[in-house]
Amino acid sequence: MARIKKLSSRLANQIAAGEVVERPSSIVKELLENSVDAQASRVSIDIQAAGTKLIRVRDDGLGITEQDLPLALDRHATSKIGSLDDLEQVRSLGFRGEALASIGSVSRLTLHSNTESQSSRGFVASCSGRDMQVEQKPAPHPRGTTVEVRDLFFNTPARRKFLRTERTEFNHIDDVVKRIALAQFGLGVSLTHNGRQLLDLRPALSEQERLRRVASLCGPAFVENAVEVERVAGDMKLVGWVAQPTFSRSQADLQHFFVNGRYIRDKLVVHAVRQAFNDVLYHGRHPAFVLFLELDPASVDVNVHPAKHEVRFRDGRAVHSFVYSTLHQSVADLRPDALSVGTAAGATSPSPASAPAGRLDLLTGELRNPQDVFSGGGTATDVALAAGEAPLTIAQAEAMSVAGANLSESAAQLATYQRLYAPHVKSRGSVAENAVMQAASDPDAEDAAVPPLGFAIAQLRGIYILAENADGLILVDMHAAHERIVYERLKEARDSHGIPRQPLLVPLSLAVSQRECDLVERFTDLFNNFGLQINVSAEEQIVVREIPVSLQRADVEQLVRDVLADLLQHGTSDRIKQHENDILSTMACHGSVRANRKLTVPEMNALLRSMEATERSGQCNHGRPTWARLTMGDLDRLFSRGR
Ligand code: ADP
Ligand code: MG
Repeated sequence: MARIKKLSSRLANQIAAGEVVERPSSIVKELLENSVDAQASRVSIDIQAAGTKLIRVRDDGLGITEQDLPLALDRHATSKIGSLDDLEQVRSLGFRGEALASIGSVSRLTLHSNTESQSSRGFVASCSGRDMQVEQKPAPHPRGTTVEVRDLFFNTPARRKFLRTERTEFNHIDDVVKRIALAQFGLGVSLTHNGRQLLDLRPALSEQERLRRVASLCGPAFVENAVEVERVAGDMKLVGWVAQPTFSRSQADLQHFFVNGRYIRDKLVVHAVRQAFNDVLYHGRHPAFVLFLELDPASVDVNVHPAKHEVRFRDGRAVHSFVYSTLHQSVADLRPDALSVGTAAGATSPSPASAPAGRLDLLTGELRNPQDVFSGGGTATDVALAAGEAPLTIAQAEAMSVAGANLSESAAQLATYQRLYAPHVKSRGSVAENAVMQAASDPDAEDAAVPPLGFAIAQLRGIYILAENADGLILVDMHAAHERIVYERLKEARDSHGIPRQPLLVPLSLAVSQRECDLVERFTDLFNNFGLQINVSAEEQIVVREIPVSLQRADVEQLVRDVLADLLQHGTSDRIKQHENDILSTMACHGSVRANRKLTVPEMNALLRSMEATERSGQCNHGRPTWARLTMGDLDRLFSRGR
């Protein structure tokens, strides 16, 4: 072993640079964070050759005094914290005092700054890797700071070799700049690469300007498909936007999560978000979101990663459950009615803070409206009474309308109801038309007279429902929609009172493998929870005695085989617990109307009303959309009308 000796400050800095300066974009990140910490209102970023030739960041922040200038380039020198106490509640983005020193050790760095508004003041300090000697002299500069980093890694050729193509490196820089622009709406941001202006964002102060900024950074489609999130609980606050599950991505590239203004990639947070989207996303699809979590700086440790990409929460579980429950509710609130309020720039704002947006409230609201159209009176209870039933609660009435494949019953009720209460409605197909015309001729009539998904006019090829609402044409994939409704019912029933079941008239015997027999024995209770009573009756034989009421029309054999296949796939009982919803989803698929089944108009209307009242009904269980809309405007454009 060689003798122990102290590293030169250059080498020490270069070693630190290994962590802090992973690539050109890390430098951009550090410099931008310094500008934000200096309360800049504008930054201009100029890049050449993806940052290998030049990275220049100019801001109009507080600046650095003449005396402090050399210190700024020194390692372990910071103006942001002074004690352990400060470290434990950092409010600034930087605090380690090593960014400039690290950057200066692997490049030629100059630092211009001025703390006063007279531009004749100003000083420049420079150091160029080799010796960390800082030279300083007066140089005019407007108030603020400019940092120029040239010839990155000129003195560490090995690290230069690790750089990827110019395009890749610049994309990283672009990401970093976009994130800062998202995190700091009040900051004006300009970015050029090789002399080309790529970004020029004015400070976004109003709500509208913020949305515009999000649209220009994340794409207009994101904003059009996003809902606003805002929730406060205790000292935690989560605000931002999440895209509807149908706007999912094949990569996790539109996921921006900020904790106290700091972009982070945190396992706990990613997990909470994923879990919130669990039920509505295709496997392998990624949700898109821009979210800001604010909490007491003392309850989050930001000093766990040199580049500060990660944080540690004092109460990780509380953060997890807060993020999860907020987003879960936002996703649950994505119903057709919520979306039709106006896709305009995420104008809808489900308020997860309030009690779960009650299905009942929604339902009463929505059920009243079609009735107004039919007759101008009555309540949901009357629907049931009209059909000669005992009075039902609204929830029951609604649940009936989608009890599995049992659509026709409720449709019959609806028809009876129409006959009894709405003699003036001539044909069902004209209901929407009447309503629309009524609304048009009577300016006081609310648009809401037509329910969000409108009234069915026809069925196309046994697959799609065509409906007319106040805006135009609605298209519904009836199998996908019904599958979601059945699934939500099954989950709800399982969680509240157990899935209603029904004995089979003739128990069904099935030949299965020994492994499947074992599964049936091991998971009898689980099957029970799912509304399935199944026993092993002989070697390699099982018998199904009871099935969920809502699946009475399903192909029982296929259903049971598929559930067994799910169980086999999920292996241990732990994993099965986790995948209970997958199993219910499989069951729902069997219980929902199949393509190519003819539905009557009342059946279709019953389905539309159920969609309006069902959480997450905008997507099927696999994350595909269940419905689409063509407004009159869309149709006019399609036919070049009114141009
Ligand atoms: P840190 O940000 O962790 O304090 P840095 O090495 O990034 O460490 O910066 C060192 C110090 O230089 C900062 O604490 C700050 O006082 C000063 N500084 C750096 N950049 C700027 C800037 N753009 N405007 C004003 N002061 C700056
Ligand atoms: Mg810093």
